[in-house]
Amino acid sequence: MTIRTKIAVQFSIIVATILAIFSIAIYLISENYRQKEFYNSLRDRALTTSRLLIKEPQIDKQLLKVIDKNTLSSLYPAQVLVFNDSNQVAYYNYEADTIYYSPELLDRIRSQRYIETTFGDKQVVGTMYSDTSSKSYAVLAQAEDVYGKQKLENIKETMYVGYFSAILLTILLGFIFAGQSLKPISNINDEISQITATSLKRKLETGNNKDEIATLALNFNRMLSRLDKSFELQKSFVSNASHELRTPLAAVKSEIQVALQNERTPDEYKGILSTLLHDNDRLIKLTNSLLVLAKSEDDANFKLNPIRVDEVLFSVQDEILHLNPNFTVLIDFDEIPDDMNWVTVHGKVELLKTLFMNLVDNACKYSQNQQADIRIKANKGNCLISVSDTGIGIPNEELEHVFEPFYRTKNASTFKGSGIGLSICRRIVDLHQGKISVKSEISKGSLFVVVLPHV
Ligand code: ADP
Repeated sequence: MTIRTKIAVQFSIIVATILAIFSIAIYLISENYRQKEFYNSLRDRALTTSRLLIKEPQIDKQLLKVIDKNTLSSLYPAQVLVFNDSNQVAYYNYEADTIYYSPELLDRIRSQRYIETTFGDKQVVGTMYSDTSSKSYAVLAQAEDVYGKQKLENIKETMYVGYFSAILLTILLGFIFAGQSLKPISNINDEISQITATSLKRKLETGNNKDEIATLALNFNRMLSRLDKSFELQKSFVSNASHELRTPLAAVKSEIQVALQNERTPDEYKGILSTLLHDNDRLIKLTNSLLVLAKSEDDANFKLNPIRVDEVLFSVQDEILHLNPNFTVLIDFDEIPDDMNWVTVHGKVELLKTLFMNLVDNACKYSQNQQADIRIKANKGNCLISVSDTGIGIPNEELEHVFEPFYRTKNASTFKGSGIGLSICRRIVDLHQGKISVKSEISKGSLFVVVLPHV
């Protein structure tokens, strides 16, 4: 069932129920009024007849019957019976045996003074009437409210017609209004079905910019922008990655081609092979970095272990010095807190090592004295690790780009590198719910600060 049909049906059911409740209530109330009114008029009829009969004894009873039948009963054929003290019929305007009465009923009238009851389709009123000679009469009047019932029947029929017409109208209007209200959604649907991976720049109409549907379209547009941005990043990442891989591969190829052109001495071959080895190392390093980055995407839900940051830094220092004996890596633990929990973070040791290896390697690589200074301190919530150098620095306008994949500053073009290291660093810090920032001054040096929440 479509939402449009659902809304129309639900709306119609609600209206039908409310209408039914009101119609039944109106019918019952009208029936109640009808009965009350008819009892009152029967009582008036009973008293009028008694008054004429008893107060005006000179009136001929036959004449009274004629008057009663022709005038008083003109609206409805009411039957009136008047009983004296000894339950004998003192007057009747119809044959007495066609009128319902019993000694018990007369006793009830005498004891209660006034009663209302029914007999078949007829309503019955019993009342007492006393004349001046202190004689009291029990008067019975009964009749069927044909006119009132007919009126009520007419009301019922009118209500039936009104009820079903109103429901039909409600269903029709429900369909129209539901269709109108849902039209923006079906428009959005049509627009969305035309958006593909190549047309992410398209945007949905946001209508009046106010209602829920406009908010939905706005949010969808925002999502499209995010998707578009990440598609663009992905594309540029792939093209940059292939470029970075192709350059050393092309170099290796041309070196081999040149080598093969002439006969070489063993020393020349050695030289060529060591250049090839160097290029090969570069390739391995780059593919490893790309692998770390790709793996870290899958590692969004990786298992975290408590890790002592100071220990990670020591092993980074060892490893870097082992790979590059010319580098100097100094670690300052002066501000380290007594509580070792403050330097313990939830993380993954290989990733944290890669993070600090990249920062320390950069610091040494981009400074003339090839020295990196590491500082570790902590506050109540975080552990702060800074890696500084006194090297070439980063131009101010390029600071915000250095964490982008494959970005390399202009002043670093003479240094070997691929521009992938810092983007890996940022990804690792993000995975550890931390922050990384950089301050730098050209030709004076750079300071990278990593903030990680401790246990
Ligand atoms: P790579 O060092 O391999 O080029 P990175 O991603 O590690 O790649 O760094 C990106 C760029 O940021 C570098 O190319 C360099 O321009 C700049 N950079 C990073 N660290 C430093 C530093 N300590 N001093 C100066 N520039 C730096």
